[in-house]
Amino acid sequence: MYYDKLIFEISKPGRRAFSLPKSDFKNYKLSSNLLRANDAELPEVSELEVVRHYTNVSFKNFGVEKGFYPLGSCTMKYNPKINQDIANMSGFNLHPYQPLESLQGILEIYYETQKILSELSGLDTYTLNPYAGAHGELVGLMIVKKYHEDRNDFKRDTIIIPDSAHGTNPASAIVAGFKTIEVKSNEDGTVNIDSLKEMLNDQIAGIMLTNPNTIGMFEKDICEIAELIHDAGGLLYYDGANLNPILGVARPGDMGFDIMHVNLHKTFSTPHGGGGPGSGPIGVVKHLVKYLPSPIVKKVNNKYIIEDFNDTSIGQISHFYGNIGVVIKAYSYLLSVGKENMADIGKFSVLNANYIKESLKDDYLLPIKGLCKHEFVFDGLIDKSAHVTTLDVAKRLLDYDVHPPTIYFPLVFKESLMIEPTETESKDTLDDFIKIMKIVAEEARTNPELVKGAPYNTIVKRLDEAQAARHPIVKYRDLLQ
Ligand SMILES: *Cc1c(COP(=O)(O)O)cnc(C)c1O
Repeated sequence: MYYDKLIFEISKPGRRAFSLPKSDFKNYKLSSNLLRANDAELPEVSELEVVRHYTNVSFKNFGVEKGFYPLGSCTMKYNPKINQDIANMSGFNLHPYQPLESLQGILEIYYETQKILSELSGLDTYTLNPYAGAHGELVGLMIVKKYHEDRNDFKRDTIIIPDSAHGTNPASAIVAGFKTIEVKSNEDGTVNIDSLKEMLNDQIAGIMLTNPNTIGMFEKDICEIAELIHDAGGLLYYDGANLNPILGVARPGDMGFDIMHVNLHKTFSTPHGGGGPGSGPIGVVKHLVKYLPSPIVKKVNNKYIIEDFNDTSIGQISHFYGNIGVVIKAYSYLLSVGKENMADIGKFSVLNANYIKESLKDDYLLPIKGLCKHEFVFDGLIDKSAHVTTLDVAKRLLDYDVHPPTIYFPLVFKESLMIEPTETESKDTLDDFIKIMKIVAEEARTNPELVKGAPYNTIVKRLDEAQAARHPIVKYRDLLQ
């Protein structure tokens, strides 16, 4: 079918999708340095062909609007369209150089969003400036660095990170100029306090944690951990990329954390992935506020102003106000959920994860038993006699129109299969997923070759993932070579 062809391949000279209005500039001569030497190579197609082509291309993609997307450590939840509509309103077409008096509306949104994030997380002040979660981590670690330097404590060059941490944590620490050391986990996936104690000395700048941690377990000793780190002179950084499980239920500030980032994309109604616009606000305790990058919006005499800690801040971290559209979506989402319903997000995301975990634990190996939070990890199939791997299971799920969970992460298990259903899915969807996972487990027992050969229903089969990531072919011309 021509649907499977590239738009260049269905091109026929002279076909047109529309006609331009008559030009008023017919006789205007552009100078030759502005003109291209050859005509642009554009596909020539009719309107119907364009419509069909892109409609069919969109069906080849997979998104949360097409099917279940239980990717762990990622929160692929549904983002209500109204928040996007609000961010698209023409009143938000602003210019960053506009005088502040004409930006009072958006500054109010910034101010209120900062305040709500503070209230939800228990930290004193937020800046909405960083562009992403990892960007927020970098800001947070630069603050850790500046804090120690300001106390003339230059020895502190090491950040402690658990073995289950998200890969951005050690990466951000290194970029900020630190060394990292890994603290081991207990059997139940939480931080091993004894091994933590052994690491503490006057070179420790701080620790990066997330709670619930990357395996979906709550660090119940967090208050003791905070005390240990503070007593040793370090700071606690909270990776708040996935805030779903604790929203309205628990607050990192109350657990003893000093700095955290929040992913507005993921938790607060902006889809993520594909390098799209994100926002990774950073919040800090009171004595670190002076290090925050601008802008921090303040309300003085009923006017919104921008506070600038020029002398003490770590400096500007992104352009102007950061990603305004993402902030507007987050604010609109926060208001539409409402303070009184905020805790439902945490409770339903936890309930959904536990429901799937308990329903599948007779087929998939559950290394860490007991109540999980918003996500959990299986260590592959229980029955490994036919050597069907987590990769095989993931590929087979594609044939059933399910996006596979996160695989081979976290690194603490060999066959990790990490599932995060999120709070936006209905019980029917969860039941469907459970049924499909059970079918795949049964296929692995009775017809392992079938699972190992999957996927069968996708356009491409098993890719060379390293090649696809490092040398993607994204241009028609490259494909021809
Ligand atoms: C997604 C994620 C990050 C990084 O966020 P980006 O916006 O992709 O940079 C950090 N930590 C955890 C736990 C995450 O899930």
